[in-house]
Amino acid sequence: MVIVSHKEQRAVEVLDDVLCDRCGKSCKGKIGNVNGLHFDVVGSYDSTHFPDAICGYVPRVDVCERCASEWFASFVRNPLEPECSESDAAER
Ligand SMILES: [Zn+2]
Repeated sequence: MVIVSHKEQRAVEVLDDVLCDRCGKSCKGKIGNVNGLHFDVVGSYDSTHFPDAICGYVPRVDVCERCASEWFASFVRNPLEPECSESDAAER
C-alpha cells in the first residue's frame, strides 16, 4: 500500500462568544463557557408564526441564561421549577 498525502494548514473558526438576542449581552460565563439557549425556529406547512422550513429561512435564536430564566418565569409551567407530585405535596 502506498499512501499519498500532504500537509496543509487550514483556518478554523473559533467561537469566542454568543450575544443574547434579547438583551444583547454576552452569554459567556465566568470561566469562559458559553451558556444559554440556542434553537432553530422551524415551522411547518400549517405554522402560523414560524416560517415554513421549506422556504429555506430558519431563524436562529440565542438567549442568555438570565433572559431565559426571566422568560421561563412567564410560562404557565416554568421548566426551571421542580415539579411536585401529589404524593410529594402530601408529605409536607
Ligand atoms: Zn439576555
